[in-house]
Amino acid sequence: MVLLHVGIDDTDSKEGMCTTYVGAVAIRRLKEMGFKIKGYPKLIRLNPNWKMKTRGNCAVAFTLSVKKEQIPRVKETVLKTVAELAELHVDTTNPGVVFYQGSQIPVEMKDFSKKVVQDIVTIEEAEDLARRIGAEIHKFKLGRGIIGALAAIGNTLEGDWTYEFIAYRTPENRGTPRRIDRASVEEMDKKTYPRTFDNLDPSTGEIRITPHTPCPVLYGIRGETARVVKMASRMVRAMEPIEQTIVYKTNQGTDEHLRKVKIDEAKPNWSVIVEGVVSKPPRTIPGGHVIFSLRDETGEIDCAAYEPTRQFREKIKKLIVGDRLRVCGGIKEKPELPLTINLEKVEVLELAPLLKRENPRCPSCGRRMKSEGKNKGYSCKVCKERAPADSARVVTLVRDISLGKFEVPPRARRHLAKPLVRELGEDI
Ligand SMILES: [Zn+2]
Repeated sequence: MVLLHVGIDDTDSKEGMCTTYVGAVAIRRLKEMGFKIKGYPKLIRLNPNWKMKTRGNCAVAFTLSVKKEQIPRVKETVLKTVAELAELHVDTTNPGVVFYQGSQIPVEMKDFSKKVVQDIVTIEEAEDLARRIGAEIHKFKLGRGIIGALAAIGNTLEGDWTYEFIAYRTPENRGTPRRIDRASVEEMDKKTYPRTFDNLDPSTGEIRITPHTPCPVLYGIRGETARVVKMASRMVRAMEPIEQTIVYKTNQGTDEHLRKVKIDEAKPNWSVIVEGVVSKPPRTIPGGHVIFSLRDETGEIDCAAYEPTRQFREKIKKLIVGDRLRVCGGIKEKPELPLTINLEKVEVLELAPLLKRENPRCPSCGRRMKSEGKNKGYSCKVCKERAPADSARVVTLVRDISLGKFEVPPRARRHLAKPLVRELGEDI
């Protein structure tokens, strides 16, 4: 018996399909043929900042334990499934399939996978890697999907991982509004959160397990273990037929996309963790986005909280110059604009004192005295009392924000971003 790893990517488009579904169908067909899948199939989210990305930028991989002579049948089934289901008529859909045989995932494949999650990789780099390690690549059209397909095989999910249970719709229902019982989702959330997460948006009550795209997914439940997402799925009442289901092991909700950098090292297309001090106060720009600047010893960078982040944005507005922060977020490539971190999470490490100058009180009537002009002292308009220029006091006001971490709401969260509830438990 040998281990055969299969990777698939870039089969979907904005109009439909989903690479997780292509993977699920291929796996179902292989199981029906009597093949065994080793462990859980993987759903790997790739760099969320890349402009060439497909909708959710995810790739899938799975491993079979097979006899050598069965390998051609496996390959044929997978390739046929991709050719049949991928959105090949869409320009930007360029599927790739990779087969890799071996009991170990080579270190350079793991490194490549990390680069695909955190950075930009070219199709030439993917082809070079495949040649060096002896992986078999299949390109449909431009075949850009071989990048994600290799990355999905190479991501061995060793540090942190989560699971997602996905239920798929029958073909006749795809593209129509999804029908699931809202109360059952609320009940499921009550019983399984935070072992499952992002089921509901706490601020709007919006159900987050159903996507808003024409893809075949009816709903997906994310959680800490395969057991809890399966258990949660049994609590959700679907009011339409379910074609099939699958559980993926995934890098969703793990922060795998983030890398800690100094400000002058930050590059477009990266997602970064940066520590610094607020150097320009938050300001609201047209569209309702809030921007402030952060400085460390190497430079300055803009940080943005976009309108859909709502209450997160309101908290950002309370920051002042001098506050020390650790921020996380992605940097999109926008040549006409300064580098901007699209904030995902913020930790307030130190609050600067908020100072206010207070005029002296009148010794006779107790009213606040008025300034007579710069360095001219103060006077009471009623009693005509006077006070010298140095009699004003500077007082420290109470800040309306505290130390600690806060994050964008689920509706604005990246698939890869680790929800605070996974870091801190329910104490958030
Ligand atoms: Zn007075």
